[in-house]
Amino acid sequence: MPRRSPVIVITGTPGTGKSTHAQLLVQESPVPLQHINVGELVKMQGLHDGFDEEWQSYTVDEDKLLDQLESPVSEGGVILDWHTSDVYPERWADLVVVLRCHHTTLWDRLETRGYPLKKIQENNEAEIMGIVCDEARESYQPGIVVELESNTLEDMEENVARIVTWIEQWIKDNEN
Ligand code: ADP
Ligand code: MN
Repeated sequence: MPRRSPVIVITGTPGTGKSTHAQLLVQESPVPLQHINVGELVKMQGLHDGFDEEWQSYTVDEDKLLDQLESPVSEGGVILDWHTSDVYPERWADLVVVLRCHHTTLWDRLETRGYPLKKIQENNEAEIMGIVCDEARESYQPGIVVELESNTLEDMEENVARIVTWIEQWIKDNEN
């Protein structure tokens, strides 16, 4: 069954603004959207094989995660908010938004968040090298991947307005 509302993947290095964008998008969207914070879901539902102390992150059980997401995604009208995007089947995503942030700004945000230094360095480097973006471009058709700057509140408002316009068009293209 075709979806009536789109599935929007929002990805980016931790701290680039995924969850903040997703929250604003829920408010501004012309159709109801469910914001799924995938990292939180993994934690809350125990969709992992434990906590990796060295990497300070959960080892995700991908099969369990995909099982959990299958039903909301098939309904549509979902924002998948996570720092990685290559776990999902390609057909899930209608739009993949990659948020980018200046590395010094990102450093400050992660420091404010109380991340350990090692984690800040690791994410900072990943952002400079564009790892999350490369991953998205390798996993999806170029036409559905869009890279957006997320340095200022102005950027965020602009980005959300752009996504809203994209949703309106998607709805027009998919109604019958
Ligand atoms: P993520 O979900 O990608 O880890 P968050 O949405 O939690 O990132 O944002 C991290 C911090 O940076 C929050 O304090 C948020 O308010 C701030 N922030 C995010 N995006 C922007 C932006 N475009 N302009 C200013 N502050 C931002
Ligand atoms: Mn987040």
